[in-house]
Amino acid sequence: MRPLNGVAPTPLEVALRQYDDAADLLRLDPGIRAVLRVPQRELTVNFPVTMDDGSVRVFQGYRVQHNTGRGPAKRGIRYHPNVTLEEIRALAMLMTWKCAVVKIPYGGAKGGVVCNPKTMSQKEVERLTRRYATEISVLIGPESDVPAPDVNTNPQTMAWIMDTYSMHHGYSIPGVVTGKPLSIGGSEGRLDATGRGVAYCVQQAAEGLGIDIRGARVAVQGFGNVGEATARLLAESGAKIVAISDSSGGIYSRTGIDVAALKRHKQESGSVLGLPRTERISNEELLELECEVLVPAALEGVLTAENAPRVKARIIAEGANGPTTPDADRVFHERGILLIPDILCNAGGVTVSYFEWVQDREEFFWSLEEINSRLKRIMTRAFDDVLRMAREHGTNLRRAAYMLAVSRVAEATTTRGLYP
Ligand code: NAD
Repeated sequence: MRPLNGVAPTPLEVALRQYDDAADLLRLDPGIRAVLRVPQRELTVNFPVTMDDGSVRVFQGYRVQHNTGRGPAKRGIRYHPNVTLEEIRALAMLMTWKCAVVKIPYGGAKGGVVCNPKTMSQKEVERLTRRYATEISVLIGPESDVPAPDVNTNPQTMAWIMDTYSMHHGYSIPGVVTGKPLSIGGSEGRLDATGRGVAYCVQQAAEGLGIDIRGARVAVQGFGNVGEATARLLAESGAKIVAISDSSGGIYSRTGIDVAALKRHKQESGSVLGLPRTERISNEELLELECEVLVPAALEGVLTAENAPRVKARIIAEGANGPTTPDADRVFHERGILLIPDILCNAGGVTVSYFEWVQDREEFFWSLEEINSRLKRIMTRAFDDVLRMAREHGTNLRRAAYMLAVSRVAEATTTRGLYP
């Protein structure tokens, strides 16, 4: 993809081009194509919050539902100074496709508030959350739109939203959000879910390429929720984690990193650097290491046309959202590197969110073993479906995942028919 006017494309431009590409290949009916290209609903809210010093500040927030053809809208709420309606639109659309790839009965949504919670007190963040939840309560609900945590929001934020919504109704409604603490209807297995899904995808990809996961060398960028769980679970299945990084830089060990020891080290020292018997490397070097599997699990846009020719991994598993630019994507395809796209690879998180919602509605909670085995079944099926689509159309997994997702949402829309 060429930058427009020399400027890198925005997330919405990327999302729309990927959608258009899939729609072209599917020869989507022009009417349905137009329906799915735009969000179904967008809400902008401006609301006051009393700050700790008694002053009043007005904040702007958004909730966008891209599509609800396959079920309630689902997904995160982010708090960040750079949140824009356009960004939220792009992320809502991606969620529609992600839910469709793993075939869970949800549409896509996203929300955000323009704010910097790092400069606010806990009480200010709570008041902001409760008022924002009230403002968007015309859209959210267990049957209509189910938020979850995203950048700078967490299980506590979800607890406040659940409590606010429940207070409005006069009884507890845990199914209005997912990613809640366990004590109020959260699910076992949610914390590891995304990394676990990434690990399942890597195992399947390795098997398909005839790579023995036992002893396979893995490099992981990012040691947060996704990176840590992916590294730990791949190490448990016998892979050798040769490199891991965080925002302070990376570490390398030819013989393999002890992920549990690294977690303790990071908790004590604040970074991955300095783990005994490891060498220091940069984040850029990590991406270009000799290894079988590369897992970008930190930031967007780290794999570019510039570094893609030097990447040596045979499998790239997108733990993060959007770590690969469209130009790099093309390079990897041409070089025969198997890239597992984000909308498939990191869908384990939303899948266990779905399990949480089901458990809340049934008021019957599953064991961790049950969660993990159901997650494995869903991820394995999704991987197989995407691979089959890629083979049928002679294309890469990213395009195939988009084609699969768009075709599923289009089918639901056509089957329901256009109202009135
Ligand atoms: P996190 O905040 O827990 O961890 C992010 C990690 O990236 C941290 O270790 C941080 O130090 C590291 N990092 C930051 N800047 C870096 C840099 N310049 N170089 C290398 N590492 C850097 O976040 P997370 O929840 O693990 O999410 C990571 C990515 O996965 C994001 O793209 C997110 O959207 C995506 N994702 C997360 C989930 C989930 O369930 N948490 C689900 C789907 C997708």
